[in-house]
Amino acid sequence: MNNTPAQRPDKRRPETLSFDSQAVHAGNSPDATTGAIQTPIVMANSYQLPDDPSALDWSDSQTLFYTRNSGHNQMCLERKLAALERGEACAVFSTGVAALHAIFFTFLKSGDHVVVSDVTYEAVARLFRELLPQKYGIEASFVDIGDLAAVQAAMRPNTRLVHAETIANPTTKVADVGALAAIAHAGGAMLSIDATFTPPPMFRGLEHGADFVVHALTKYINGHGDAMGGAVIGRADLVRDLKNDALVDVGGSISPFNAWLIMRGAITLPLRLARHLSTAQTVAEFLEQDPRVAFVAFPGLASHPQHELASRQFQGSGYGAVMAFAVDGGPELQNRFVASLRLITSAVSLGHDATLIVHVGKDARRGSECYPEAFRTYGHMRLSIGLEDPSDLIADINAALDDALGPRVT
Ligand SMILES: *Cc1c(COP(=O)(O)O)cnc(C)c1O
Repeated sequence: MNNTPAQRPDKRRPETLSFDSQAVHAGNSPDATTGAIQTPIVMANSYQLPDDPSALDWSDSQTLFYTRNSGHNQMCLERKLAALERGEACAVFSTGVAALHAIFFTFLKSGDHVVVSDVTYEAVARLFRELLPQKYGIEASFVDIGDLAAVQAAMRPNTRLVHAETIANPTTKVADVGALAAIAHAGGAMLSIDATFTPPPMFRGLEHGADFVVHALTKYINGHGDAMGGAVIGRADLVRDLKNDALVDVGGSISPFNAWLIMRGAITLPLRLARHLSTAQTVAEFLEQDPRVAFVAFPGLASHPQHELASRQFQGSGYGAVMAFAVDGGPELQNRFVASLRLITSAVSLGHDATLIVHVGKDARRGSECYPEAFRTYGHMRLSIGLEDPSDLIADINAALDDALGPRVT
């Protein structure tokens, strides 16, 4: 998963480092006061003002004077994430949803139109199906982003933004980011990509033409299920607008402690991700060959409708570590299966060290009428593969299948 550095590696210049070395060093420097070689947590709401504070721009997000505008740990994390995503600049927020909302709030106004994938994270679905149209007069068209002709047809003269997830939560539909960028740009719109399921080095959306890459840091980048955060990476002038409008004047700023935790978690991102990806492939293949399992949606399986696109776009690095599946039966049987698991935890979220499962009923989500037929027939369970030994996960799943459905017969 390395890129070979062209120059002699130097940790003071992260651009000279390969990805794994950047994950360790980018954004970190010895503390000027103490000499501590790890960035300390700076728990301070305010920073000392210059001699003439009347010269200060109180909407500025680049100067350290108030932690809602900017903070030391926030800036260190932003430097690390910009380096890992190879973007000019990064803005971090208190949650992934705050980061997504920051884009919509900053770059859309009433009368604007957006083209949105018909399958997205629940909060995004509600923002575009209800809140932004009803309160702010922003129009949204929901399209199957697997159908590029439909995306093209949905573009209007006032379309300002196209938004999709690299791998959609929860159906695992894969977006062709390069093709979406071409359509968006030809129509005078920007493309934002939620890449939470596909963190670098697996995929870098800016290199495929996206204007914004968003991560729920809550998930893989922090990786330990103990801190929430969100990030937007993109061109410096756009990120500055985003911070000045949505950070300073809406205020979803990350706490210094959470920024520090996420910075620490990100150090091991390449190591953890490799394990997440390989275990997910193993578990998905196990589920698919068991006749008690009704369906498995995972881009790494040849049966997935966008398997070829995923292989091309993610260049063989993997297919994510989230899958959706159902056992062959009704909702009670899905619940019984989950209740029988002893290692895998029933909880929302994903990208944690622990493997998590959540049973989502048939009609529980906005836009679920757009899910594939198997999802509408059985409902689904979303499974986020963690860092446990794959054989322990398979043994737990197999035993729960035995408990809920009886022993395998074929
Ligand atoms: C979890 C998630 C989010 C939201 O992140 P929060 O930190 O929970 O706000 C956004 N997009 C995707 C794809 C997610 O999985």
